[in-house]
Amino acid sequence: MTDQKKVLEIVEKIIAKIEEEKEYLTELDQPIGDSDHGINMARGFQEVEKKMPSLDGKDIGSILKTVGMTLMSKVGGASGPLYGSAFMKAGLKMAGKTEMDINDFLTCLDTAIEAIQKLGKAQVGEATMIDAMVPADEAMKKAVESGADDKAVLEAGSKAAWAGAEHTKDLVATKGRASYVGERGLGHQDPGATSFSYILEVISENV
Ligand code: ADP
Ligand code: MG
Repeated sequence: MTDQKKVLEIVEKIIAKIEEEKEYLTELDQPIGDSDHGINMARGFQEVEKKMPSLDGKDIGSILKTVGMTLMSKVGGASGPLYGSAFMKAGLKMAGKTEMDINDFLTCLDTAIEAIQKLGKAQVGEATMIDAMVPADEAMKKAVESGADDKAVLEAGSKAAWAGAEHTKDLVATKGRASYVGERGLGHQDPGATSFSYILEVISENV
């Protein structure tokens, strides 16, 4: 069980990780986009940082909703509304909860994927964050079914997310800004798939 205090701790760690990887995420966005993914994510999560004091003692739903609304309103790029709606919709599922377990987490991820696909219309194989999220989700569900403990489930998810991000190098983007470069995008890892992998990695290291 992860309580709301732990969730806030993990949000802090995500803010720090995004800040740490800001330049790398921006570099990844250079050949296939407009060199701003790290800048966008860091700006959004710095705004989340400002909201942290107001989240003390709040339920998990409110925390996720605030993260989502902040990313939605403060990030200019496509990733803002995508991650924003993902956190917001996951927050609705966790409304009023002060603790969450691994199944709640998978519900959040399912909801996040659904929200991102509703907005961005990307399927697996189009070289977006979806290519890290869906394999991670599948790997974690499989691990839960096989009776793995929470730590092992999250590690399997993180590993699958990174493999998915790596695999975006072999895909031609057909959604988002990267679709403009077509086949020239081959060999380049998708920035959004990478930022998602960092987020899940932080979660898996801290639960
Ligand atoms: P922008 O593309 O507006 O500059 P960012 O650079 O912050 O925004 O984010 C780019 C990332 O957003 C991409 O690497 C990709 O993972 C994700 N993305 C873009 N469009 C979509 C979409 N339609 N569906 C899912 N993810 C998308
Ligand atoms: Mg960009």
